[in-house]
Order: sequence, then C-alpha cells, then structure tokens
Amino acid sequence: MTDAAPPEPAAAADNPFAVLLAVQDLDTSIAQHEHRKAALAERRELEALQARAAAIRRRVAELDGQRSEFGTRLSHLEEQTAAVVARRKALEDRLYGARGAAGRDLRAIESEVAQLVGRLHQLEDEELVVMEEQEPVDQEAERCAAELAELAEQSKQLAERVAEADVAIDAELSVLAGSRATEAARLPEALASRYETLRSRLAGIGAARIVDGRCGGCHLSLPSVELDRIKHLAPDAVVTCDQCGRILVRPSLAGGR
Ligand SMILES: [Zn+2]
Repeated sequence: MTDAAPPEPAAAADNPFAVLLAVQDLDTSIAQHEHRKAALAERRELEALQARAAAIRRRVAELDGQRSEFGTRLSHLEEQTAAVVARRKALEDRLYGARGAAGRDLRAIESEVAQLVGRLHQLEDEELVVMEEQEPVDQEAERCAAELAELAEQSKQLAERVAEADVAIDAELSVLAGSRATEAARLPEALASRYETLRSRLAGIGAARIVDGRCGGCHLSLPSVELDRIKHLAPDAVVTCDQCGRILVRPSLAGGR
C-alpha cells in the first residue's frame, strides 16, 4: 500500500473517552437519521392515502355485493317476464288459430291473456323499482372507482418522493456508519462493551459529557463533592453517573469535538 494513511485525529481525541464521545455522537446522529427516515411527512401521507384506499376498496366490495344482488333480482324478473311473454304468445296463437272455437273457450283465453298483460306491467314496475334502487349504488361505485384512481396517482407520486428521500438519508447513514465503525474500532474492548450495554438500556445514550457540573445524559447536577472526586481520578478511570448509570466523560478528556 503506497497510499498515505488517513490524517490522525487531534491528540486529545486519542484518549478512549474522547473516542467514546465520538462514537456516541455518531450513534445519536444515526438514530436521528433513522427517526427522520421513519417519520418522513411524505411517508405518513402515503400511509394515510393507502389507508383511505383500503377503506374505499372495502366499500367497493360491499357495493359489488349489493350490485350482484340487484343483478340476481333483475335476471329473475327477466326470466319471469320471458315466461309470461311466451305464455301470452302461445295463447294468442291459439286465439288466432281457433276462429271456430266455442265463444266460452275464447273468452277464457282472452281473460288469461288480459291477466298476463297485467302481470307483465307488474313485472315491469318491479324491474323499475330494482333499477331505481340500483342507481345510487352504481353512482357510488363510480365515485369510488374515480377516487381510487386519483389516490393511486397521488400514491405513486408520493412513493417516488419517499424513495428519493430514503436514498438521500441512506447515503448519509452509510457515511455515518462508516465513521462509526472506524471510531468504534479504536475503543478498548471493555469500554466498548460497557457502552453498548448502557446504550441499549438507556434510550441510545451510553456515554455523556459533564457539562456545567451536570450529567449530559440525565441532566441532573452532580454533587460538588463528586465533581471534586472525579477531578482527581486517574485519566483512565471510568466514571459513571450515580443517577442514570451512564459513562461520564470529564471536560479535560472530552477532546475538542
Ligand atoms: Zn446521568
């Protein structure tokens, strides 16, 4: 390898606690990016559109059920109408073909034909009733289909914007993950595993700076006696917060980050 080694970080950053803070800052940034990705306004909007579309599809299924019932009722009425028409035709044929028949028989046939005509009017009325009931259902189904088409178009556009945002955030995440791996590799193993344990238990924060006499993790003030004790500890001593248990990094060891 002839390539030059990457530039060394500042000397203060070489102590494990400064590296630990660097890892913590990167982990915090990664968590923020992941949260931003999950909470994208476009993703929320897309989920809302998809929920709306699902509700409309359920309604369409109900309407389809109703329309199929109307269809069954109408075809039943049409069958009855066809049977009545056929019967009337047969009777009329008999009337025309039976000129010499007894008047009594002819009157009986004419009376049945008249009944059949009445029945046909009745069937027509029933068909009209079904068609009137069906009309608003058909109209609603049309409105649903139009709205679904509109939602599909909006969803498509939103999905593209979500995908673009994801790509951008993923690129940033990948850079952060690379830096994180580099920094974490510089941590002593015991400190790294202690940090990981704390981080998984304490909402992603395992190490914190002492800022203005407070723990940067839980923000509670440290007693002045404790601050004084910490000040006199050996640089490699691991200090933890009595309140939250996180690893505390003294300002003198925090590096310039
Ligand atoms: Zn604390």
